[in-house]
Amino acid sequence: MIYLDYQATTPLAPEVAEAMQPWIGEKFANPHSPSRWGHEAAAAIEVARKQVEKEMGLKGGAVAFTGSATEAINWALKGSVEKAGGRRNRIITVATEHAAVLDTCEWLAGQGIDLTVLPVDAEGRLDLDLLARELDRNVLLVAVMQVNNEIGVTQPVSEIAEMAHKAGAIMFCDAVQAFGRVDLCKGPDLVAISAHKIHGPKGIGALWMRKGKEPAPLIHGGGQEQGLRSGTLSPALCAGFGAAARLAGQRSTKDYDHVQKLWKAAIEALGHGWKINGSTAHRYHGNLNLRREGLDGARLIADLRDVAFSLGSACASGSGRPSHVLRALGLDYRQARSSIRLGFGRYTKQQELIDACRRIAVHAVAQEKLDA
Ligand code: PLP
Repeated sequence: MIYLDYQATTPLAPEVAEAMQPWIGEKFANPHSPSRWGHEAAAAIEVARKQVEKEMGLKGGAVAFTGSATEAINWALKGSVEKAGGRRNRIITVATEHAAVLDTCEWLAGQGIDLTVLPVDAEGRLDLDLLARELDRNVLLVAVMQVNNEIGVTQPVSEIAEMAHKAGAIMFCDAVQAFGRVDLCKGPDLVAISAHKIHGPKGIGALWMRKGKEPAPLIHGGGQEQGLRSGTLSPALCAGFGAAARLAGQRSTKDYDHVQKLWKAAIEALGHGWKINGSTAHRYHGNLNLRREGLDGARLIADLRDVAFSLGSACASGSGRPSHVLRALGLDYRQARSSIRLGFGRYTKQQELIDACRRIAVHAVAQEKLDA
């Protein structure tokens, strides 16, 4: 199997598996218990927290672990609304956000929040003048992601945070696809990340919160995470997240250079007839989303069973619905259906990527002949 679906999830790094091992096996104590073993597990969690915070590189806040980035996003949005207590009643977000943001915002709209979903241009970028016109004193929160999961396009999150702050609003950033791959933008008050996108384990995410901007709790109970998020933490998952973050920091230049080479190699191997979806300049290059006139992307995936790639987000691929991100770029239903996403990174070998791209190109041409 050639794995080209790095936006859906990434392979677990061997160093991460090793860091998790003791906490899966003999060191099973509850990290919140007062025993010596419990203290040891709690200390391991604090080491992991520092590793994640260090790699995030943000100042003036702290990380709380969650069960996923989806939970962190729900918490940031719903908890901020609850904390505001109706003093401000408006959320601004963007049409290309992940479903975890858009669906949570829609849910909040059903509860009475005034929701504005801004469009993007054909490159997938937000028009900051448009945002400026929308920012009024009723805006509680602005939610904009740093790197898009479907097309890899980046948004100027620091500038957006500055604009949000001027209007007295909170800035939330979904940095799930950015963390561990590119430097995080400074400025947001709340930042959601996930371990399994950086060669860490599934089932753990985190919310970085600027001091004073912590949302009201979403999950109530034992209050384990600073009294703000309840539930027994998994030392194994935390240790894995910490190790993955440390590794991403140590390898950042190497990983980045590798991705740049892979991007060029993939484009060359695919040959003519493809159009890249979204900006190529403002983009993380480990995400190659492209389309070809008349291509049936789903058929291509079915034809190439030993190459793992996707149509867009893992969620969109399952639903059969055309991607809301591609539609937001102005692509019609047919163009969205003729798009595929190739995602690669640290453990992708250049030759296997080239082989896969050549085979994709051959099958795409064969489809054209069959349909002609
Ligand atoms: N946000 C983005 C941009 C993502 O790509 C994903 C994962 O697909 C999520 C949020 C949700 O992350 P998790 O799987 O940790 O819930």
